[in-house]
Amino acid sequence: MKKIAVLTSGGDAPGMNAAIRAVTRTAIFNGLEVYGVYEGYKGLVENNIKKLELGSVGDIIQRGGTSLFSARLPEFKDPEVRQVAIKNLEALGIDGLVVIGGDGSYRGAQLLSHEMNIQTIGIPGTIDNDIAGTDFTIGFDTALNTIVDAIDKIRDTASSHERTFVIEVMGRDAGDLALWSGIAGGAETIIIPENTVSIDETVKYIEQGMKRGKRHSIIILAEGVMGGNEFAKELKEKIDIDARVSILGHMQRGGNPTAFDRVLASRLGGYAVELLLEGVSGHAVGIQQNQLTHHHFDEIFNSTHQIDLGMYEISKKLSI
Ligand code: ADP
Repeated sequence: MKKIAVLTSGGDAPGMNAAIRAVTRTAIFNGLEVYGVYEGYKGLVENNIKKLELGSVGDIIQRGGTSLFSARLPEFKDPEVRQVAIKNLEALGIDGLVVIGGDGSYRGAQLLSHEMNIQTIGIPGTIDNDIAGTDFTIGFDTALNTIVDAIDKIRDTASSHERTFVIEVMGRDAGDLALWSGIAGGAETIIIPENTVSIDETVKYIEQGMKRGKRHSIIILAEGVMGGNEFAKELKEKIDIDARVSILGHMQRGGNPTAFDRVLASRLGGYAVELLLEGVSGHAVGIQQNQLTHHHFDEIFNSTHQIDLGMYEISKKLSI
């Protein structure tokens, strides 16, 4: 192992920069050459690859987004397109590739390691926390804190005007962002794909709250269940309330990473390089019960990330 490349792929997440920095610096510390691939697999195909030095990753640990940029390239599923990427990697003599992204990005990495003599390691980077084999993905904590800050602000206005707010949060098919932010933000109702609450039950909670004098009701709705506007429309057909919708959108992806995400990214980035040096390939790193772990990509593709439904029960008790 002499030369490695690093790329970020799929949706960007705060903390990706801290991971790029950790990969680059750990590799250089161990005497490796490091190349940054710009715009994910698109840059691999277009040969947009540049050598990184220690200073190339200076002053980025605190920045959101990804300094290597990201892109989606559906054509990467085509073996002929991957051959172009393989030729570019071979021309530079790269023998290890670190891919920071979600499970779509892992699939691309796995195919590359089957089709050429290259070791690959995946690092989970997405705000959604929807990847198996890790308790937390890089970016989840930052997005969570952004959402909680938004809930606090919405709560102020909801309370002043005696309103119900439906706050739609990201997470794709996973309810982690909704569940964690709902608990931290003191939401009355949390609706997640893993445990959906019917409109009738939601109405019951709102009515209970009104009876005991609550001036507002906050409903956190995971985008994987349905859209906020559709939900509010259905709600208003059942109960006469002033229900407003707030779709937080892409602000959830931005912002400086929290200390937690920076530390997680630093640990996972360093570990990814150590595994490459040990000869491991076709695995993704993760953190489970605060221990660094790694699992074969197939193991990750064949299981699903499990949400902690015990937390859901806690939220129900705390919002009566
Ligand atoms: P994420 O990595 O966050 O899950 P995507 O699913 O959009 O995001 O995947 C990111 C990129 O990874 C895609 O744009 C594509 O270039 C590549 N990719 C995704 N799935 C595959 C696949 N089955 N085979 C090869 N490449 C893939």
